[in-house]
Amino acid sequence: MPICFDLDGTLGHFSSGFVLLREALGQVWGQTPTVDELRRCQGSTDWEIVDELHQMRFGQGLDEAGYQAYETACVTRFREVFTPGVQAAVGYRGVLEGMHRLAATAQVWIVSGNAPGLLAFKTELLGIDAAIPRLGSLPRHNRADLLHRALREGSGPHLYVGDRPHDLAAALAAGLPFVGIGEAVPGDHPSLPQDAAAEHVITAIETALGRAR
Ligand SMILES: [Mg+2]
Repeated sequence: MPICFDLDGTLGHFSSGFVLLREALGQVWGQTPTVDELRRCQGSTDWEIVDELHQMRFGQGLDEAGYQAYETACVTRFREVFTPGVQAAVGYRGVLEGMHRLAATAQVWIVSGNAPGLLAFKTELLGIDAAIPRLGSLPRHNRADLLHRALREGSGPHLYVGDRPHDLAAALAAGLPFVGIGEAVPGDHPSLPQDAAAEHVITAIETALGRAR
């Protein structure tokens, strides 16, 4: 696995993301999942969350066609909202720059819980180099499964950068060193603020990799 970055909350944020997810499902299912239903979901990837909501609503799990329909509707909603004059994504400039600089000498991937089409749209909006591989949420994969897949397909060194406890848990499950962004992921790993400068991001990651060797 390469040096992998989560997207939302790690490289930037899209503030109304969960509203748009619910609205997209409302369009596909004819009924919008409630905030409370969303809150009860345990998963951290789009497949897991939409599968859990489908289970609550219809009493059975999601299938690939249902996931595809969600993805198409969700990308459409994001394209409508994240457009000039409506809403803007916020990119964490130093983290983005640090990631791009690391990508010049090491393998860097984006491993995110967004459905692949949504991840493609968001990474484009944040100005992420198209040469950096993206791995989004796949059917029947949790976040640790995605990290294991990256580990098989990409070369080392291996590390995960994320902003939430579920990112840390996935890194631990995959046996990877972890660097946190922001204050929502407590622990004894190295941690950086969202406005960290690129040099600090690079140093924290290189130090964490050095410790893991
Ligand atoms: Mg995140």
